[in-house]
Amino acid sequence: MKANLDVLPLSSWIDTAGKPLIIAGPCSAETEEQVSETVSRIAKEGYAHVIRAGVWKPRTRPGSFEGMGEAALPWLVEAKKQTGLPIAIEVATPQHIELALKYGIDILWIGARTTVNPFNVQDLADALKGVDVPVLIKNPVNPDLALWVGAFERIAGAGIKKMAAIHRGFSNAQETKFRNSPMWQMAVELKTLFPQLPIIGDPSHMAGKRAYLYELAQRALDLNYDGLIIESHRNPDEAWSDASQQLTPEALGEMLKSLEIRKASY
Ligand code: PEP
Ligand code: MN
Repeated sequence: MKANLDVLPLSSWIDTAGKPLIIAGPCSAETEEQVSETVSRIAKEGYAHVIRAGVWKPRTRPGSFEGMGEAALPWLVEAKKQTGLPIAIEVATPQHIELALKYGIDILWIGARTTVNPFNVQDLADALKGVDVPVLIKNPVNPDLALWVGAFERIAGAGIKKMAAIHRGFSNAQETKFRNSPMWQMAVELKTLFPQLPIIGDPSHMAGKRAYLYELAQRALDLNYDGLIIESHRNPDEAWSDASQQLTPEALGEMLKSLEIRKASY
């Protein structure tokens, strides 16, 4: 496959003082108090460069919690004021983009269930024309490198140069150790095609269980990933989505301290 991407380095839009980028926060924004307490505990730990929270949740089957929607956006605006940290959310429709930009959300990400659909990605690209906002693109749920590459090409076609990949693993037909198989080779191939594209590991969605976060995060760092996005909740067992994979802000701090950062330039 031949491809080309005009992408700016991570340091041009986020200052991590040379360390791996850490994006932390709850799977979902649930209540004003949950967001506020979670982000203030994360900020107190001092490791995060960006806060994440899901506002529109792409649930596999109807009937699960599908996110608080626009009502959660003011809580995130407040979280930014509270912590001084930029906020990242998932967007899946042009309307999500419009609302995110209206509330001043700093960073957008495209979820794994959106990356699979070129029509959907093109709609997002059209809504991003003329906008200067960093866009992170998760791998598609299925292990199809060309779909992932195509999503970058479509978003780049809108003029977006602040981009990064999020590697969250690929779904399985059978029960496997990890909820989503990392298939590390897919990310290595993406990096070979686009050497300048930053890549962020998402051990939370690979693991599905908090017990496996450490080994997956370490593997990502061993592969010289530029950062990690990890879910953290004030009370993980009570989370309205992805309860078994989230860590308290303090437990996440402990885990990050125990990871070895072997990236040559650190
Ligand atoms: C999430 O980040 O909470 C999420 C829904 O992720 P993914 O698109 O990787 O399933
Ligand atoms: Mn999640």
